[in-house]
Amino acid sequence: MAKVMIEQLVVASANPGKLREFERLLEPLGVKVCSQSSLGVAPAPEPHETFVENALAKARHASAQTGLPALADDSGICVPALALAPGVHSARYAAAQAGQSQDALNNDKLIQALANQTDRRAYYVAVLVLVLHAADPLPVIAQGLWFGEVAKTPRGENGFGYDPYFWLPDLGATAGELDAVQKNAVSHRGQAMRSLMAQIEARDLLAPTSPQR
Ligand code: IMP
Repeated sequence: MAKVMIEQLVVASANPGKLREFERLLEPLGVKVCSQSSLGVAPAPEPHETFVENALAKARHASAQTGLPALADDSGICVPALALAPGVHSARYAAAQAGQSQDALNNDKLIQALANQTDRRAYYVAVLVLVLHAADPLPVIAQGLWFGEVAKTPRGENGFGYDPYFWLPDLGATAGELDAVQKNAVSHRGQAMRSLMAQIEARDLLAPTSPQR
């Protein structure tokens, strides 16, 4: 059977921060990375109620449109006391309001939802899916969970989204107080990326021209 190998892949995200993260991660492997928007691909719908289904839908869509292997992610914050909400709806948890930061609206809604809760545990989730082609029967799937609590007051200016409220008792800090390197070493996305890389290597999916060979 012919071996399928990755020389170039398209990232199914319009988020420049995520694209930079993926580029940095894949650089040592000699894999050329481009965004789906740079290839004229519109974002796929994310209609599903699970992270993995949404990530798979995004990866398949990007691969079908470009003919390239594609990597997609879906992430969010899950709160057990709220039946795992905001979950897959984390980016748009609160209704948008003109002139207001979506992150601030989301955080306000979360703090209100937990106002009478003593159980403030929460975890960030990141699911990454890599398909070699649109009909790939064995996508590479990696998941990372990062456990913490929802603080009552925000701390730190770093990160984005729910980070200023994501309290890490072991570190005595919120995610908003960690720098990018500290966050990546422990975060849901960092964990998922390392798992993805291990699976890519275990399956020997790297191109023979990559600098590691
Ligand atoms: P998506 O993966 O682009 O759909 O984004 C999911 C949403 O989850 C983001 O818009 C954030 O609100 C939240 N989220 C995911 N990862 C993080 C993180 O590392 N820090 C803060 N918020 C996050």
